[in-house]
Amino acid sequence: LTERLQNAISGLRKKGKVTDADLRETMREIRLALLEADVNFDVVKDFIKTVRDRATGTKVLEGLNPAQQIVKIVDEELTKMMGEEAVPLNKSPKIPTIIMMSGLQGAGKTTTVGKLALKLKNEEKARPLLIAADIYRPAAIDQLQKLGSDMDIPVFSLGTDVDPREIVRQGLAQAAENHNDYVFIDTAGRLQIDEELMNELADIKDIAKPDEILLVIDAMTGQNAVQTAEGFDQRLDVTGVVLTKLDGDTRGGAALSIRAVTGKPIKFVGQGEKMTDLDVFYPDRMSSRILGMGDMLTLIEKAQRDFDEKSAEEQMQKMKENTFDFNDFLEQLSQVQNMGPMEDILKMIPGMANNPALKNVQMDPKDMDHIKAIVYSMTPEERENPDILNPSRRRRLAAGAGRPVVEVNKMIKQFNEMKKMMNGMMNGKMSPQMQGMMD
Ligand code: GDP
Ligand code: MG
Repeated sequence: LTERLQNAISGLRKKGKVTDADLRETMREIRLALLEADVNFDVVKDFIKTVRDRATGTKVLEGLNPAQQIVKIVDEELTKMMGEEAVPLNKSPKIPTIIMMSGLQGAGKTTTVGKLALKLKNEEKARPLLIAADIYRPAAIDQLQKLGSDMDIPVFSLGTDVDPREIVRQGLAQAAENHNDYVFIDTAGRLQIDEELMNELADIKDIAKPDEILLVIDAMTGQNAVQTAEGFDQRLDVTGVVLTKLDGDTRGGAALSIRAVTGKPIKFVGQGEKMTDLDVFYPDRMSSRILGMGDMLTLIEKAQRDFDEKSAEEQMQKMKENTFDFNDFLEQLSQVQNMGPMEDILKMIPGMANNPALKNVQMDPKDMDHIKAIVYSMTPEERENPDILNPSRRRRLAAGAGRPVVEVNKMIKQFNEMKKMMNGMMNGKMSPQMQGMMD
């Protein structure tokens, strides 16, 4: 999806003026891109009509920079289509808040229970209880129990021989006794929707009267995701959706149509197998990401979660003011190294997805060490004023770090580009570099 949309848009970007024919062609490309990404046909039709109506307004086409304006319209409409605002978990006025999971086998229900419980525990000091109500696969109970013991969160299980309805009843009794503030009911799934599964889930819903019924959908299942969502929603009237495996090579169509088709909000997205790989779903960020502007805000949030919050904020401010220097750069490198696999991080940086040149640059941890060595060879003055790095200073750095001068030059150039790019992004406009990347 992303690639095709980006092509359509970057084609437009190159033009100063947009004719009716250009617009028609662009809309056609966007329409194909969405259909190819398995976005529901009716959703695409509505979307295209809205964008076209807004774009054909004379103000847009005759105004300054029409291409940018159309991108803005597409961005706004994509955002709207995905629900506009982040929607928090439902909460019961009195404890416990009961959260029931639903979804096909392998969608990520159990994993999401773990991720959400951990999030609540960390953010609210919550004391959740996890109920193991998937009795059809012994491994499913083990999996939940392992998650629980890793995170020091209690799991209620009666093994595989007791009916899930009974497990839920007894689990809820235990939660009441122990004053747990959240209860998660991890349910069974099937490879496809069937009557028996649906009856069981409907019964569990009747018994538990959950405040939240989360439907977990694997984003990689394309058009099927929408059908699955409709099927579960019709029967259970779910209250929210979790879209998992967005870290994979997904086509993203699911995020676009699930909200439109079911009317139910996507509340969270799963972006990896680790327990911390869960993010609040922000429609505007998802839209920017689809349009290739990257997901700087999510990246910054991840940064804040994974390390020192204050320093991340300071750095953001510095990027804004364009006073980002090599000291910040160094700090950022160390932090980035602590954040996890480079690939995860790079994906969130604007333009990275379709910029092989930049991608190669920072992948190798050894490269990182070389870069650090060069920065360590700088005097404090040089770190604060990178502009004074003339050729003789650069030669000194090369000698100090034991790296060739070309590498020093390359690194400084990258630093400057990064600085420019970040400054542009922070101020909400695209730098020439970023536009170059998108073209
Ligand atoms: P369930 O059958 O619905 O309970 O699904 P599980 O929670 O057991 O997940 C099935 C598989 O998907 C497991 O291997 C998980 O690690 C994996 N998984 C779940 N969520 C994500 C995600 O957001 N990203 C990735 N990459 N894998 C995930
Ligand atoms: Mg499971």
